[in-house]
Amino acid sequence: MNAFVIDKPPRIVVPVVGGGLFPVRRVYCVGRNYAAHAREMGGDPDREPPFFFTKPADALVTGGTDTPYPTATSNLHHEMELVVAIGRGGTDIPAGEALDHIFGYAAGLDLTRRDMQDEAKAQRRPWDMSKGFDASAPIGDIAPASSIGHPASGLIRLTVNGANRQSGNLADQIWPVPDIVAALSRLVAVAPGDLIFTGTPDGVGPIERGDRLEGFIEGVGEVVTNIRRA
Ligand code: MN
Repeated sequence: MNAFVIDKPPRIVVPVVGGGLFPVRRVYCVGRNYAAHAREMGGDPDREPPFFFTKPADALVTGGTDTPYPTATSNLHHEMELVVAIGRGGTDIPAGEALDHIFGYAAGLDLTRRDMQDEAKAQRRPWDMSKGFDASAPIGDIAPASSIGHPASGLIRLTVNGANRQSGNLADQIWPVPDIVAALSRLVAVAPGDLIFTGTPDGVGPIERGDRLEGFIEGVGEVVTNIRRA
């Protein structure tokens, strides 16, 4: 018999609104998907097809628990994002069929070591350690599409300590959700349990130890976390 030779890593799950748990396979993220944010990061919103990077599944922070301030940065940034939860897999999914593959949606935060990312860009190095560090992906509960439908417009907002930091509209995504799922499925096989962070509106900025982050997406839900003081 083949017993595990070390302790089995825990199964990563995200709670579902109304009950149940969503088991996570992979976490994908889209870069520069709102024109105003693409411009604030020095990009050209008109010329770039969607591009993807990843975070480890165990980077998720669920249930409104606190988020530790990461090591190796002095410029931790918030990016408030709509998250897509895949319920049915596929490859080469046509955009017109993409919504059939989506289980639901959540509000999430793509936390970023901006100083390390700037250095990686300058040195042409990978983004993994600036994007995929421990606790880099706080996420709210997943709302099933069977309850909320497929939001294509609506307010996406983040406050830090009650003050507005980011305020945008899902309708301003350069690549809407069906196009994102279609594009990703041409690069890799999309599978049940995959999450896709779909990019942030403008207004990204630094967060500090002790800050309270409250994200809200109209028709979807919230993500709330406190950055640990120590
Ligand atoms: Mn992002």
